[in-house]
Amino acid sequence: MILRKLADAAMDVVWPRRCAVEGCGRPVDRPGRHVCSACFATLPYHDRRGCRICGSVPEADEPNDFTCADCLESPPAYDLCRSAVRHEFAARQLVLDLKFRRWTWLQEDLVDLLEGAARAKLDLPEVDVVVPVPLCRGRRFVRRFNQAELLAEGLAARIGRLCLPGALARTRDTGHQSRLGGKARRDNVKGAFEARLPELLRGRTVLLVDDVSTTGATLSECAATMKKAGAARVWCLTVSRSVREQS
Ligand SMILES: [Zn+2]
Ligand SMILES: [Zn+2]
Repeated sequence: MILRKLADAAMDVVWPRRCAVEGCGRPVDRPGRHVCSACFATLPYHDRRGCRICGSVPEADEPNDFTCADCLESPPAYDLCRSAVRHEFAARQLVLDLKFRRWTWLQEDLVDLLEGAARAKLDLPEVDVVVPVPLCRGRRFVRRFNQAELLAEGLAARIGRLCLPGALARTRDTGHQSRLGGKARRDNVKGAFEARLPELLRGRTVLLVDDVSTTGATLSECAATMKKAGAARVWCLTVSRSVREQS
């Protein structure tokens, strides 16, 4: 690890790395990172105040502390969900590049986003452990890594908490959810997870981490599973959040 970092630093002097954002091409001026400071500063940050539970931002102005219609109608099992950026433009590209092009070297850049959101939007001292949303074994085998695990491990190291990738497992593949609506997504993930380390979850405040959230159905099902196993609170944090909040 140290050798790799030294080699990277030497390469940066000889041949500066270029920003990973498509169409940028500037040399990267953030040490050990792959996104330049200009691109990093102009990502579509999800910083308007949203629903106090799911964090979704309404189109019309709402009072400061409100609960959205979706959360009132079918309250999620998690206690709250926050995200760093909207899933669009360069933010979407980086999240998808990590997952589908296996650009795992984007880890630190994306963990920067998670850490920033965690410090700004969560009461961090309350968090006991960090748990990633698991992939099913087949998909993990094909992709060779779980992007949520990479992000959760990076974040846990930054905030000095234990990361427990073994705390949740998928009991079956839930397929691609992208074409399903909110209700269908909730039905599709029902019972798809299993808590494996109940003794480490009991009474704890768990920070559940994923790369992107759309309707929050997967996060809610993971939270329900961990709460059944004894977790006291489950807070969710994702790098990006789908802009069109579906219900
Ligand atoms: Zn750039
Ligand atoms: Zn809500």
